[in-house]
Amino acid sequence: MVLRQALLSASGSRRLRAFAANSPFARGVVDRFVAGEEVDTVIAVVASLAQEGLFASVDHLGEDTTHPRQAAQITEAYIGLLRRLSEEGLSSAAEVSVKPSAVGLGLGADGEELATANVARICAAAREAGTTVTLDMEGPESVSATLRMVRVLRADFPWLGCVLQSYLRRTDDDAVAMATPGARIRLCKGAYALDPAVAHTSHREVDAAFVRALRTLMQSSAFPMVATHDPRLIEIAGTLAALNRRSADDFEYQMLYGARPEEQRRLAGMGARVRVYVPYGRDWYGYLLRRLAERPANLVFAARAIAGR
Ligand code: FAD
Repeated sequence: MVLRQALLSASGSRRLRAFAANSPFARGVVDRFVAGEEVDTVIAVVASLAQEGLFASVDHLGEDTTHPRQAAQITEAYIGLLRRLSEEGLSSAAEVSVKPSAVGLGLGADGEELATANVARICAAAREAGTTVTLDMEGPESVSATLRMVRVLRADFPWLGCVLQSYLRRTDDDAVAMATPGARIRLCKGAYALDPAVAHTSHREVDAAFVRALRTLMQSSAFPMVATHDPRLIEIAGTLAALNRRSADDFEYQMLYGARPEEQRRLAGMGARVRVYVPYGRDWYGYLLRRLAERPANLVFAARAIAGR
């Protein structure tokens, strides 16, 4: 818990971010969890996943944007990415995931309006390309605004996906409220909060809350996207789907690029829909620290990767 807290705090530090950019230690983990820095590399990764029957959700790395110009640049990067996915014939295999803070949500009183406008532009490009968008969920302070953005944007883009985090105490209620017909909802445990006022802090409670929300989603007419690597929860998802007479196309499993790749292929081989969350780009620091915080075994992996160089 102490290590997790330290890593999550470090994920917000700009000084450490600059230091990590040149660290071979960080590179060892980055190479495993990030699909390169350029669009060409991520396109090749998506194409190879598609050949194996795996879908992708591509994240252009970036968060905590500090200026509207930066938010506009990230928006343009997504629009360019969607154009490339379409040109390469990959629109049916890949969508995009967008962090609200990357497109301006944190930029003061006008941040929500700016981020909503930027996500609307990304959604319009996704519609033109023939694919979808999911709005990632970040820290607890931005949950209400993010869900508001989703509700507003779904009027024009009903397929816009949202994320619920089972560690948040509010998620039981949010699952009921958001599970409208056809709504694409990614359920994950959550990678940010540790404040017991808003979040469950024990694994047992987070897992129990995950199962409760999963049950709500599976019983509803929403489209559940089950984002976990946890073998027990993956099994429960399969059971709940069967109990609620969902076919393999009526829900999907989601996992992170570089995490349990053999399990991703096993599920797809059994006929399940599996989507891999594929981040790419230069701004990998915050993403990397969250991966280390949730699974300290990744630190060992990084150390081995460096020792082998
Ligand atoms: P954990 O509690 O980390 O692990 C449970 C068990 O799963 C472990 O004991 C182990 O048996 C197994 N396991 C886990 N990882 C591995 C591994 N790499 N290799 C082998 N076994 C493993 N968080 C957000 O806050 N907002 C988001 O928008 C968001 N989007 C996500 C999208 C996707 C597709 C995924 C998969 C995760 C996302 N997350 C997001 C992160 C998520 O909240 C968790 O932090 C992360 O998935 C780790 O939780 P877990 O459910 O995998 O289980």
